[in-house]
Amino acid sequence: MIPYGKQSISKDDVDAVVDVLKSDFLTQGPAVKIFEDKVKDYCKSRYASSFNSATSALHAACMAIGVSKGDYVWTSAITFVASSNCALYCGASVDFIDIDSNSSNICIDKLDEKLKKSKQENTLPKAIIPVHLTGQSCDMKKIKELSEKYGFSIIEDASHAIGGKYHGDSIGNCKYSDITIFSFHPVKIITTAEGGIATTNDKNLFNKLNLFRSHGITRDKDFLLSKNEGPWYYEQLELGYNYRMTDLQAALGSSQMNQLEDFVTKRHELASRYSSLLKDVNVKIPIQCSYNYSSYHLYVIRVNSSSHRSIFEKLREKNILVNLHYIPVYHHPYYQKLGFKNGYCPEAEQYYSEAISIPMYPDLKKDEQQLIVDILISEVGKI
Ligand SMILES: *Cc1c(COP(=O)(O)O)cnc(C)c1O
Repeated sequence: MIPYGKQSISKDDVDAVVDVLKSDFLTQGPAVKIFEDKVKDYCKSRYASSFNSATSALHAACMAIGVSKGDYVWTSAITFVASSNCALYCGASVDFIDIDSNSSNICIDKLDEKLKKSKQENTLPKAIIPVHLTGQSCDMKKIKELSEKYGFSIIEDASHAIGGKYHGDSIGNCKYSDITIFSFHPVKIITTAEGGIATTNDKNLFNKLNLFRSHGITRDKDFLLSKNEGPWYYEQLELGYNYRMTDLQAALGSSQMNQLEDFVTKRHELASRYSSLLKDVNVKIPIQCSYNYSSYHLYVIRVNSSSHRSIFEKLREKNILVNLHYIPVYHHPYYQKLGFKNGYCPEAEQYYSEAISIPMYPDLKKDEQQLIVDILISEVGKI
């Protein structure tokens, strides 16, 4: 069996977790801040706040920005449902932007058009959540320009993208956004089993993120309304959640961070190998924008839609556990109940009828890659 994605766990990772197990704190101990500092130093953001998943981090990010009932939040039509569910948790309405046929990220021209129209209709979004699909950054400079023109906040869903770069700078530095979210689910670039983090350069947003992940409670004298109650005292200032990362997870995360560059380098080697093996094969290989350095969370090929299903089934039959990232979010029954109809975003529909994520993870072997390519060749033939 060859999965589409898989974690790499070293002896150092195991030792790091065991050390925490033998220590005084399994959660709310020192490992969490160490991990947060490591991520913020790597990304060159001012702050980082860890969470028990990227989904929780996205929810807290929407809350921190003030998304609430009556607001609109937009995201890409091709993403995991968590990118839009986070806005629904806050009572907001969501809408979807069609993708660019090359990058498969949100299409800037369509975003621009939709903003113009919604300005006239007085339905401008409170926030936009661009998704760096497969680990390739969206064109953040352009999205930032539009945010200045139309006045929306930006939350980058970089769940796929730690270790990736945009114009040479690390994704997560929040140069063009308010908050960036990473996921550490085992199929992503580094893992904490479950886990996520939010980076930001805004102290106020950072304080809010920390409040929301821990019941809305603070012990910080700077925020307490009653300053002199006593040493036991804390206050709940907001309705928060328990979205905290444990020390076990954070220790694993810190150890994984040491291997991040190595993981991404390996993913690039695999990607260029795929690209050369598939050069004369009747599939479309992923297109990279020149200003991007992808983390290559996924390697998505596109095949002729008429044979899409049979190719997919053949690979699965041979125990190559290919996947499809993603079904357009508005296809899901829950979203259809909200009034979305299939066909809403034509490029997303086209992508959905052609895309297959073939296996991509640091420990994937050359002969496994060859096997996958051989099956593809037997299905689609050469050009
Ligand atoms: C994985 C993923 C998430 C959710 O991450 P979790 O850590 O599993 O909550 C959100 N958005 C995208 C695009 C993802 O791929």
